[in-house]
Amino acid sequence: MSDIDQVLASGLCVGCGGCAFAAGGRMTLDLHGFFTPELPADAANEALSTACPFLAPELDEDALADHFLPASRQRDQKLGKYDAVFAAHVAEASFRRDGSSGGMGSWMACELLRRGQIDGVIHARPVARKGTEDPFFRYGISRSCDEITQAAHSHYHVVEISQVLTEVRRRPGRYLFIGVPCMVKALRRAQLRDPEIAARIVYTMGLVCGHLKSVHWALSLGWGAGVHPAEIESITFRVKSENVAAKAYYFGIRKRGDGGLRVQDSAPLTGGKFNLGAMMPEACNYCDDVTAETADLTIGDAWLPRYAFDWRGKNMVVSRHPELTALIEDAARAGRVTLEPMTAREAADAQAGGFRQRREGLHYRLTRRRARGFWTPEKRALADMIPPGRLRAWIYDLRAAVARQSQTAFRRALDHDDLRLYDRAMAGPFKRLRRVELFAAAARIASMRLRALVSRRRS
Ligand SMILES: Cc1cc2nc3c(=O)[nH]c(=O)nc-3n(C[C@H](O)[C@H](O)[C@H](O)COP(=O)(O)OP(=O)(O)OC[C@H]3O[C@@H](n4cnc5c(N)ncnc54)[C@H](O)[C@@H]3O)c2cc1C
Repeated sequence: MSDIDQVLASGLCVGCGGCAFAAGGRMTLDLHGFFTPELPADAANEALSTACPFLAPELDEDALADHFLPASRQRDQKLGKYDAVFAAHVAEASFRRDGSSGGMGSWMACELLRRGQIDGVIHARPVARKGTEDPFFRYGISRSCDEITQAAHSHYHVVEISQVLTEVRRRPGRYLFIGVPCMVKALRRAQLRDPEIAARIVYTMGLVCGHLKSVHWALSLGWGAGVHPAEIESITFRVKSENVAAKAYYFGIRKRGDGGLRVQDSAPLTGGKFNLGAMMPEACNYCDDVTAETADLTIGDAWLPRYAFDWRGKNMVVSRHPELTALIEDAARAGRVTLEPMTAREAADAQAGGFRQRREGLHYRLTRRRARGFWTPEKRALADMIPPGRLRAWIYDLRAAVARQSQTAFRRALDHDDLRLYDRAMAGPFKRLRRVELFAAAARIASMRLRALVSRRRS
């Protein structure tokens, strides 16, 4: 079995499209709404292995960051290399209102275009759908600020890079690439192999990532909101409003032919709470990169108590490129962007849940997989990859189980044209996971308070 076949057979393909681009194959959607490669039979094993983010461990995030981010001098065990860390939001125009968080993603893309430093932006863009299970978003190229802002927001949805990189090969230019950590890693590997891609993609922007979702997650939310999958025209995740907390996940759904946007909280819907892990690819369980460590600049949400009540959104920004740091600082001096100091520790704290899942959770899953004798991708040995306690281990087991069960239950619902099959099958597993999570959170907070009390008494 070739290395890539091993990844596919283990169900650990994230569907990034790196291998399809390297070998001249193509990506198609599978029965569960995940991208999967169709590769030529004679594709060279070495090319496929160095393309796949789950193979060739010598090209891990640390090695790629050392190669691509030489000017970034500081290193944090959670954020990777960095030059500067900020909390930020855009003060000018409507970027903040129109974005998921502080609007820095679309602003940065427009700013590089306005300054003539790029000719286009490669990012997930909404696409017209014909079939019921067609994707809602694909990688595409925006060449104006209008096009960039039309694609704003977080697209919690699988995408793949092979098609758009083929387009980049066809059309010379300088591009900014935006993506979640595994996509940026796959792109970096393509840059190592392909001088044209290396020369044309001049900047990369990473999105902090909890995990990806299949196309079916969007269908499940729309259906839960009363729009049948065959009638869903489009979806917008993270719709903001004054009455909605920054951390709430409201989404907007458009039904074919009726134009209006129905806005709804995803939390009460089956699997609608993002962090429960419904319809997450199994590959996300074997990723250790939360903050897109190989990207020139990473943006996410500044999930810190001091920003939690600001519904307008606040980004955390990790710059690994001194020129981009200077660009943001210049804009702040001109009052176009608002910056606040943030330490690397605070940025990591803002993603504490993601780091627990990807570090102690990953340690647990890797150990279990190896013990069962399954093929296991080789990951970095990171200092915070420590074994979890029993309660956390239980949560990781439940999470992995709901991710798998939700896929098959929703497939059944589609096949029988009956959403109740999904709701009924998943209500119990999601409720159990939620209860255990709440119990663990309460125990964690109590233990933190106790430790604080003891240390106050001692001092
Ligand atoms: C799958 C996923 C998981 C995430 N998980 C977390 C998390 O756990 N913690 C956290 O802090 N932040 C997470 N984010 C990032 C966060 O949701 C915001 O996207 C980010 O903070 C940018 O907000 P903004 O207002 O600055 O960007 P905006 O101005 O809204 O611009 C966002 C830009 O990113 C592009 N984009 C959005 N989704 C994708 C995608 N899937 N692939 C490629 N390009 C895309 C858009 O096209 C747009 O150009 C996640 C994003 C995604 C897509």
